[in-house]
Amino acid sequence: MPSLRPRDWRLPRRHRAPSSPVEDSKPLRELDLAGHDALRDDLTGLANRKALHRRLEEALTEPDARAALLLLDVDAFKDVNDTLGHDAGDLVLRQVARRLEHVALEADLLARVGGDEFAVLLTGEQADEASAVGRRLRGLLEAPLEVEGLGLRLGTNIGIALAPRHAADATGLARRADVAMHLAKTHRTSIEIYSPDRDRHSPARLALTAELHAALESGQLEVHYQPQADVRTGAVRGAEALVRWRHPEHGLMPPAAFLPLAERAGLMGPLALHVIEDAVGQCAAWRASGRELTVAVNLSVTNLMDPDLPAEVAALLSEAGLPPRLLELEITEELVMADAVGPIGVLHELKELGVRLSLDDFGTGYSSMAYLKHLAVDALKIDRSFVRDMADSHEDAAIVRSIVALAHALDLEVVAEGVATQRAWFAVRDAGCDVAQGFHLGRPMAAEGFRTWLDAQGAESPQSGCAS
Ligand code: C2E
Ligand code: CA
Ligand code: CA
Repeated sequence: MPSLRPRDWRLPRRHRAPSSPVEDSKPLRELDLAGHDALRDDLTGLANRKALHRRLEEALTEPDARAALLLLDVDAFKDVNDTLGHDAGDLVLRQVARRLEHVALEADLLARVGGDEFAVLLTGEQADEASAVGRRLRGLLEAPLEVEGLGLRLGTNIGIALAPRHAADATGLARRADVAMHLAKTHRTSIEIYSPDRDRHSPARLALTAELHAALESGQLEVHYQPQADVRTGAVRGAEALVRWRHPEHGLMPPAAFLPLAERAGLMGPLALHVIEDAVGQCAAWRASGRELTVAVNLSVTNLMDPDLPAEVAALLSEAGLPPRLLELEITEELVMADAVGPIGVLHELKELGVRLSLDDFGTGYSSMAYLKHLAVDALKIDRSFVRDMADSHEDAAIVRSIVALAHALDLEVVAEGVATQRAWFAVRDAGCDVAQGFHLGRPMAAEGFRTWLDAQGAESPQSGCAS
C-alpha cells in the first residue's frame, strides 16, 4: 500500500513541518512552520488547525497587525467519500492540497483545518488582495481532479475575514471566516467577505431574530403584489406575492434582509403559511370583484420538506373559497440540487391539489432538462439577469429564445422576470415569452395599492408605454 505520507519536498519551505525537532520558544515565522507532527496534518503534510491558530495568534500580537484569513471548503466532498470510498477521498484532499500550494508562496500559512477545510493566512493583506487570492484559489481547483480514472470537478466555497476589521483575535477571526464561508455556500456565491449584519451570531442579528417571531404574530410581515401580464395583449394575468417586514425602527425591509434569519430560526413554515393565507385571501377578493387573476407564492426548499404543507395549503384554499388553479407556487432549482425524495413527494401532492407550479429564477441554477418533466412544473420564470440585458446582448437574447423553445416544446408557459423597460418588454415579446413581470408593468405594491392599480388598468396597456 502506498504511504499516506505526503511528498514533503513539494511544499514550500515555510508551510512544511520541519523534520528536525525545534525549540518551542522561537516564533513560528522564523521557524517556517514550527514543530514536529503535532502541528502537521498527516494526510496532506500541510500545517494543521493547531499550527494555524498558533501562527494567527502570533501574527495578531504584532503592533498594527493586519491579516486576512481565507477558509475554503470543498463542495460535495462528502459525496466523493460516500460514492468512491475514503481512499479516493484522501486522494482528492491530497490533490487539493498540492494545487493550493501554488498560492502558498503568497501566503503566510496554508493549512488543512478540518475534513475538507483548508485555510490560507495572508498577513498584511486586506479585502482586495484577499479576494484576489480567493479567486485564484478557486481557479486552481476548477480543472477536474483525476481520481480513479474519473475527472472530478469540485466546487469550493471561500469565506474571508479580516483583522483587525472583523476581529482582532485568532478565535474571533477564524469564527468569522467560517460564517462567511457558510454564507458563500448557502448563497452559492463561492466567495464571501465577512459582514457583521449577515452574521446570525452578531448582537444585531440576534435581536432581529427575536423580533421576527413577534413580527409574524403582530402582522408586521406584509405581503406586496407585483402584477404580471400577457406580453402580447398587455392584459393583467395575475400577481406574485412578495413578503416585506414593516419594522418599527428599520422601516420596510426587503426579503433578503430577513429570510435568511427566518430560515435559521425555523420560521419559514409559519412565514409561508402567512403569505399563502394573505395571497389566497387577496386573490379571492379580486375574483369577487370580477377579476379572475392568478396569485403566485414563493416557497423555499425548507417548506417543501414539510409533509404537512399540502394539507395546510388545501385548508387555506378552501377557507378562502379559491379554486386551486388560481394559486401558483414558485420553487427554485435549489430543490433540484437538494435532490431529496421528500420535497418531490410534497410537490406531487401539491400538484394533485390542482395548484400550479413554476420554476423560479430559471437559468441561474443547475437544472437538467430532464428534471423539468420530473418536477411536473407548469411554467418557467426566466431569471431577470438574462432579461435585463437581452435587448443589448445577442447572447442573452439567444439564451432566452432557446429557453422559450425548450419550454414550449415541453408545454410549459414562460414568464419573463425583471422586465424593467419598454425595450425589454418588446424584447421578451419578440423572443416568444408568454407573460411579463417587472417594474415596467408595475412594482410590488401593498394589497390596497395593488387594487387601486388594478382599477386603473384597461385604459392603457404596457406596450403603449406605461411608466415604471
Ligand atoms: P423573486 O422570487 O425572484 O422575486 C422577484 C424579485 O425581483 C422581487 O424582489 C421583485 O421586487 C424584484 N423585481 C421585480 N421586477 C423587477 C425589475 O423590473 N427590476 C428589478 N431590478 N427587480 C425586479 P424582492 O421582493 O426583493 O424579493 C427577493 C426574493 O425574495 C424573491 O425573488 C424571492 O426569492 C424571495 N421572496 C420574496 N417573498 C418571499 C416569500 O414570501 N417566501 C419566500 N420563500 N421567498 C420570498
Ligand atoms: Ca419568485
Ligand atoms: Ca425570480
